[in-house]
Amino acid sequence: MNDQLFKSAMSKFTTGVTVITTKVDEKVHGMTANAFMSVSLEPKLILISVHEKASMNKYIKESGKFAVSILAEGQEDMSMYFAGQIKEEKSVDFVQFNGMPVLENSIVHLTCDVANAHIEGDHTLFIGAVTDIAVNESNPLALYNGKYQTVN
Ligand code: FAD
Repeated sequence: MNDQLFKSAMSKFTTGVTVITTKVDEKVHGMTANAFMSVSLEPKLILISVHEKASMNKYIKESGKFAVSILAEGQEDMSMYFAGQIKEEKSVDFVQFNGMPVLENSIVHLTCDVANAHIEGDHTLFIGAVTDIAVNESNPLALYNGKYQTVN
């Protein structure tokens, strides 16, 4: 089975888009991720999957915490920027939520403590124990077939 077939099949699963943030020694780091899911209601757990080569992998291991901003329609530029697809350096204004940096105007902010980490293949699955949630009612940014979509 070739990599392209696997990637193409996975791209047919429509997802939202998130920016994961963490901070180490007060330095903030952000990374775009669509490998995000709910895991458990009691206790409240979520999962993110982070590539072993992403800087975010070591930052989350160091800090033991992360936040998730679920992007709204119109935040394609944030998705591209935190995926390293826009090269010029930007100063991003993070807002603080429960002591963690998150992106303004996202539809959901979650803060999490790392409850567990499982290395699977070339990714680490971080299980986050949710410590706080904020929801803003607006339309999400979606991803299907490698392209951004809007959902009304
Ligand atoms: P870097 O490549 O070092 O940083 C990413 C970018 O964010 C850089 O441009 C950097 O300058 C900027 N940045 C970071 N922090 C700040 C800050 N504080 N202020 C200003 N700029 C900052 N990878 C996964 O592992 N899992 C996924 O689920 C996943 N899903 C993706 C979904 C989409 C739609 C896309 C486009 C990419 C996805 N990726 C995923 C790939 C991942 O986003 C990139 O490989 C990313 O570049 C890896 O991040 P890094 O931690 O190595 O950070």
